Amino acid sequence: MPTNLPGPSSLARMQACIRSVIPPHADSPSEYAEHGNAKHEYLANVLTHGREKALMLARDEDREWLADIDTDALPASKTGAYAPEVSWALDMRTGKCRVLGQQLSRKEARFRAMENEVVGTADLAGLRPGTIIILDYKSGWLAPAAKLNPQLLAYAVMGARAYSSKQQRITQAEISIVRAPDDAQPWVDTFHVDEMQLDVAFMQMRQTYQLAEKALQLAKEGRWDEIPPAVVGPHCRYCPRFLFCEAQMAIVKAFTKAPEEGRPVLPVEALTDDEFLEFSEKLECAETVLEQLRIRHDGRLRQRPIPLGDGLIFGEKHSKSDHILPKPAREALMQLFGPALGEGVYNAAAETVTKLPKERLRSALRALVLPGLPKAEQKITKLLESTMDELRERQAVSPTPTRKICRYKGELPLPKLEDKTG
Ligand code: SF4
Repeated sequence: MPTNLPGPSSLARMQACIRSVIPPHADSPSEYAEHGNAKHEYLANVLTHGREKALMLARDEDREWLADIDTDALPASKTGAYAPEVSWALDMRTGKCRVLGQQLSRKEARFRAMENEVVGTADLAGLRPGTIIILDYKSGWLAPAAKLNPQLLAYAVMGARAYSSKQQRITQAEISIVRAPDDAQPWVDTFHVDEMQLDVAFMQMRQTYQLAEKALQLAKEGRWDEIPPAVVGPHCRYCPRFLFCEAQMAIVKAFTKAPEEGRPVLPVEALTDDEFLEFSEKLECAETVLEQLRIRHDGRLRQRPIPLGDGLIFGEKHSKSDHILPKPAREALMQLFGPALGEGVYNAAAETVTKLPKERLRSALRALVLPGLPKAEQKITKLLESTMDELRERQAVSPTPTRKICRYKGELPLPKLEDKTG
């Protein structure tokens, strides 16, 4: 029977709040997950096929921001040094681990595992004599540092156990978080794990999974009072139980309950410091709840848009926006306004070597070109549009697909064909 146990990416959350393992779980795709998946797939493809082919394999709507990632500064560019997307299955009762495969979908990897096994997939894995090397890509700043990261430690345990043999024992690990933000330089945080730390990590994992099994059993028997209470915190962000969580619902209720007679709805100014700190904490939690609801709200409209009558649709509008290509734009601006002025406009407008936003071009034209035009022609919208036309003509603009949830005039999109083979 395939495994039901959550993987190491849930470990930190399980350790903070064991109730998160109890169903029901809502597994709706979030924008963050889609974004993260696109990046992981792209980086795995860079390692296997190289940057150009990986960009070709990416979805149209992701290509532009993926191209901005400086892959030369990432381990993803070191073809042959690491294996991408390696999956293991660790039996929590025996402590034995086996390799499931490489570049499997999460679903396929879980399907290959047994009931008692925990499945983990490292973004990149490598081996040196006696040492397993684990690298994991993270986009945001929320994940704990490599040293304290239970997910990476779990991969290290898995890799060390999967590749140890009589001839060669793997007793050390090198775990790294590779921060790859969309708009900043990547950097790597590495931690060296010794044999004792690997053993402790395994024992902590085992303890957490035992607690999870116990919580599941108690929930099944309806003995809710014996399960530790839900603990709200930053770990709630991707919790699959979020929408059913009693602690989150309590926060929403605290904000929506009717005010006592004679008291304002939110007496923020009248709060004492202690009350204010409590209010502040609740506010942060409520914002997270609303953010989650927004993601699910948008996901629902993406899948099933609503016709509002008179040709108006409430759903995801697909359109194209102009993406200015900085290199050809520089040449084009220099031809258009002359070398000095064109170069000046380019320098003022380009944000980085890969980004030249239209709004910055507008400001640069307003500051540098507009004052030199005859009074009657000093209209920025007209100048921007004529410049954009020239850039299009010179192949310096590429139309990029964009998506936005809104009410718009249009046709109801055809329903998507679902893949029933998986
Ligand atoms: S959402 Fe609820 S169940 Fe999930 S981690 Fe947060 S407090 Fe725990």
